Amino acid sequence: MYCTSCGSYVPDNQGICPNCGAAVTPAQPVYQQPVYQQPAYQQPAYHAPIYTPAEAPRSNGMGTAGMVLGIVSTCISWIPGINVIVFITGFLGLIFSIVGVCRRNVSGKGRAIAGIILSAIALLITFAMYYYIGTNY
Ligand SMILES: [Zn+2]
Repeated sequence: MYCTSCGSYVPDNQGICPNCGAAVTPAQPVYQQPVYQQPAYQQPAYHAPIYTPAEAPRSNGMGTAGMVLGIVSTCISWIPGINVIVFITGFLGLIFSIVGVCRRNVSGKGRAIAGIILSAIALLITFAMYYYIGTNY
C-alpha cells in the first residue's frame, strides 16, 4: 500500500510510513460476510390417501350350486335310465348358474359360467340319448 501523506510505498505489515512517519492504516476493505438466509423449508404436509376398501364380493352360492349340479348332471347324463335325474338336476343347475352369473358384485362367476356350460351339456346329452332311444326302440 501507499502512504496517504507522502504517497511512498509502505509495506503491508508496517503501520508507520518509513518516509514521513505518518500512521498508515491499511485501507483493508471490510469484508462483509453475506448473511446466508436459510430458506425456510416447508415440509409438505402429507395427507394419507383415504383408503376406501372395495366392497368385498359376496360368495356366489348360486353359482357354486349351479356348477356342482352341472358336474353331477354331466356325470349322470351318460348313464341310461339314471340320467332321467338330469332333467331335474341339469335344469336346476342351469337356473342356479344363470342366477349366479346375473348377480352383481359376487365372486365365483367363473363357477357359475362353468355351471351353465356343464348343465347345458348334461341336458343336451340326456335329450340326445332319449331321442336316440326313442327313435331306435
Ligand atoms: Zn509517508
